[in-house]
Amino acid sequence: MTAVHPPSVPSLAPDPDPVPDPIEDLLADLQLERAGLPGRGPVPAARRARQVAGELAGLGLSRFVAELLGEPASVPAPAPGAVLDLEADEDGRRISYETWCAEARELTGEVWRWLSERRRAAGASHDGDELPWWCGESAFPLPTDSVRRLAEVTAPVPDLSETAEAWARPTGLRGRATAEYNWRWLLLGKGLYGRPGGTLPPLNELITRLVGEARRHGLLPPGHRVRVLRRPNTPSMVMPVRLPGSSLLSLPTAVTPVTVQYLQHELAHLAEHALRPAGAPLAERWAFDPLRSEGWALLLEQLAGSTAFLARLGIDAEAAAALARFFAEEERFSRGLMAADLALDTDLAGCRTSAEALEAASAVASRTGLRWAPELLLLRQTRVLHWRSYLAGYAWRDTVRTELVARFGVDWAERAEAWALLRDALARTGPVAGSAAGFLAALAGLDLPEPREPREPYASRSHEHEETRSR
Ligand SMILES: [Zn+2]
Repeated sequence: MTAVHPPSVPSLAPDPDPVPDPIEDLLADLQLERAGLPGRGPVPAARRARQVAGELAGLGLSRFVAELLGEPASVPAPAPGAVLDLEADEDGRRISYETWCAEARELTGEVWRWLSERRRAAGASHDGDELPWWCGESAFPLPTDSVRRLAEVTAPVPDLSETAEAWARPTGLRGRATAEYNWRWLLLGKGLYGRPGGTLPPLNELITRLVGEARRHGLLPPGHRVRVLRRPNTPSMVMPVRLPGSSLLSLPTAVTPVTVQYLQHELAHLAEHALRPAGAPLAERWAFDPLRSEGWALLLEQLAGSTAFLARLGIDAEAAAALARFFAEEERFSRGLMAADLALDTDLAGCRTSAEALEAASAVASRTGLRWAPELLLLRQTRVLHWRSYLAGYAWRDTVRTELVARFGVDWAERAEAWALLRDALARTGPVAGSAAGFLAALAGLDLPEPREPREPYASRSHEHEETRSR
């Protein structure tokens, strides 16, 4: 049932303009409108979606489109309305943090209702099928093997207080209770090491150099158009617009210690969009296994932790060493918070009221040593599929890296054959070949059999990746 599958090299020639297709244009316009940009069609995308509802259903895209439209089929998760302000003085920061906590507190009831409803719906609709409740977060069924890996992922909750205290000092905010704030401060606003514009290159220069690195490995065919949006104090994310033709990259304006890492992460997602085979069925082109997507992005992101890589970006040795150290700290911190999220997910199964949920969140929060406001931890539960994808993605990334090192040596990232293999694995689509398991099989030169029974097309929800990935 398996066959050797030689890696193919994707064409670097610009793709011809996509042949007009009303459904593809509609998906593109829905994505653009969701990002607050005008679509290209003269008729609003929502109206066009109603007109072609039958065709969308036939393609298995109804639920995906409903989600893009924010329709009742997918009640949006509660989220704080205001962006956390990053005040310049310590008092201002403290007030801003308290405002943010108060907002989370007001949302507690809504969050609890949303979570209870999701869990109840999962139990009712699958009735013995044992699909975890967070599968409902995905607009299409997730690959079976990935659901298993996401469900099984677990990690002990570490004590993060030492890192939090070390980070608190340069921010001017002391005390563990504000660790969450300090973290955002470092990531979105201010530098821990060096100063923006000082030791770190400006954003334009960073993008140019990182894109150059990605092109060198054939990850970004020139035909893939990318529109860059810059928004101060916003998370960075990538949205597919028309696959494989175009994507949207939204970035914060400030360059901070994690900017290099996050840009590299988003470029990985861009590559996944860009390498979609144009001839694949439409639903498959939009299908993303979150485990494969995040694992792949974590693999590429990890290259930015090498001082040699940072030197190629024009970052001096001292700053490169400091950045590499910070990236390692940040990964430990992120993984620790995600471990807390997963522990709370388990504990919430035994809770019946929002008061009990807050108690459970307090207990988990105290294990991190951060003394977090429990409301903040509870709020993160609305994105638990995302956290699971990351935490399982770290383990998957390590498996991929081990395979690459075994085949190509520790310098695999300098080997053209390694990149050809990665591109080939990444360009595969379908319920099995396009999954995290299919990627590993492709690396081993194998083809996994697709299921004999035709499945519903599947896809992850819209492919967004926030810079504030664990926030
Ligand atoms: Zn991501």
